[in-house]
Amino acid sequence: NMELRISNLSKTYANGVVALDNISLTIPAGMFGLLGPNGAGKSTLMRTLATLQECDAGSVFLDDIDVLDEKDAVRRVLGYLPQDFGLYPKVTAYEMLDHFALLKGLSNRNRRREVVDGLLQQTNLFEVRHQRLGGFSGGMRQRFGIAQALLGDPKLIIVDEPTAGLDPQERVRFHNLLSDIGDDKTVILSTHIVSDVADLCANMAIINQGHLLLCGPTQELIHDV
Ligand code: ADP
Ligand code: ADP
Repeated sequence: NMELRISNLSKTYANGVVALDNISLTIPAGMFGLLGPNGAGKSTLMRTLATLQECDAGSVFLDDIDVLDEKDAVRRVLGYLPQDFGLYPKVTAYEMLDHFALLKGLSNRNRRREVVDGLLQQTNLFEVRHQRLGGFSGGMRQRFGIAQALLGDPKLIIVDEPTAGLDPQERVRFHNLLSDIGDDKTVILSTHIVSDVADLCANMAIINQGHLLLCGPTQELIHDV
């Protein structure tokens, strides 16, 4: 279980928007909620932690890994589900996961089938594994995204606004899936929905306009929300 330590992180975009303004926070193991309205800087922070975007100043450590410097080391332990991820519509869930598993280095066919079947079961997609991704509902897409993010048994999972657009039933299902994962991993969930954090996350932070407003145990903070 890994801990993330973020210190004095800042990012100003070329158009002058200050997306992150001197953010410092520690993200412990378990489920962590990053709560903030649209435009708060959540995606910028998530992409930076996922080594996909440069920032202007600051440091990030994942245990002993210097995240901003040792990108390959981070990517070996990271599962990232971006906000708007694309899916190949004509490929089945099984084919896609099998392909990604191969890319991850799982060259043994039997082992790969074991891993892929396990992920499909964990995400409640086993029954629909031979359906094409183009026909998946929003909830199925998000659960498939989690299955993809879990390939390679990452220690840190970052999910950016995964519940936006899900209906209540799908949201409950997705919550159950995330809370299972959070038992033995560090999971960062970015969202603008308070109940996502209240239901799932032991610890949380609130950001707005690039500023960190609050950070701490959800039970202590949620009254302030
Ligand atoms: P959130 O994920 O909380 O909605 P973002 O990190 O996407 O927030 O955006 C933070 C701010 O930075 C917003 O004002 C947004 O418009 C701006 N922004 C995001 N990406 C870019 C970009 N590539 N270029 C310029 N401004 C950006
Ligand atoms: P990436 O994940 O590759 O950083 P983004 O979605 O942040 O991609 O941005 C893609 C492109 O769209 C960027 O090159 C940026 O110029 C532009 N862009 C995205 N969001 C904004 C924004 N809020 N304001 C201005 N430009 C933006």
